[in-house]
Amino acid sequence: MLRLHKDKKNEKEREQKKEAVVKEQQEEAEEELSVLSKKGKGAVKKIITDVDATVKEAAKESLKQLRLLEEGRCPECGRKTKQFLFTSICPYCGWSSFISPQQKGRMTVHLKDGTTLQCDSTFDTQKGNILCIRDDVVRMKVPSTNISYIEFGWTEEEVAERRKQKEMEETAICDWCGKTAHRAEMLVTFCAFGTYQERYLFCSPKCMLSFQNQYPMRIHRDCYHRRCQECDECIKKYYDTSSKKILSVEEVAKET
Ligand SMILES: [Zn+2]
Ligand SMILES: [Zn+2]
Ligand SMILES: [Zn+2]
Repeated sequence: MLRLHKDKKNEKEREQKKEAVVKEQQEEAEEELSVLSKKGKGAVKKIITDVDATVKEAAKESLKQLRLLEEGRCPECGRKTKQFLFTSICPYCGWSSFISPQQKGRMTVHLKDGTTLQCDSTFDTQKGNILCIRDDVVRMKVPSTNISYIEFGWTEEEVAERRKQKEMEETAICDWCGKTAHRAEMLVTFCAFGTYQERYLFCSPKCMLSFQNQYPMRIHRDCYHRRCQECDECIKKYYDTSSKKILSVEEVAKET
């Protein structure tokens, strides 16, 4: 979501930058256009059609990439990306999306000679250069070969805030009714049908109760009534229950 926001903002910025570039090139283009006009209207028309086709093709490609990103997939190879707090990375083809810290001057480019460059954001030109941007101005173009590493200066507060935000964004599927819900708001239950403890998520107390009623006898390890941390019966354990609500059948019955 954050990325999409950024893309929109970038689009605006690009619009503005485009104007300056366009003005510069306009004179030149007009000259060429007048030469072409002499050759006939057909030549000009053909160029306009070509441009339209290119723009259309690019728009189609952007839309496709957007959809893939929304599905948590790599816009380049279409496979599942790995989600980190501020970044998505494709472990298959190496594609990545980086978000720079919002506050200024937090990107530190460490050069191989030991010196550092401070900027708001960096941009990889994909042509062997990194652009250092400060106050919306490209201040430096640094050959990637001179760079040792680039440091992202996130504060602990930013990390904590993003973690919270991400948890709210994350969705999961209810193991009973199949509905999608925010993961942070779902109820969780652990149970072992075999020797492996599994985690089940539910969108509502009703769904969890239905599940537990459906499978009461088959859970021989009494997973519904004890916390995973306190149990040695199962091979697989879950410790990450801090943010999730664990309710027993009795508690659920009381709530509904
Ligand atoms: Zn990929
Ligand atoms: Zn449900
Ligand atoms: Zn257990």
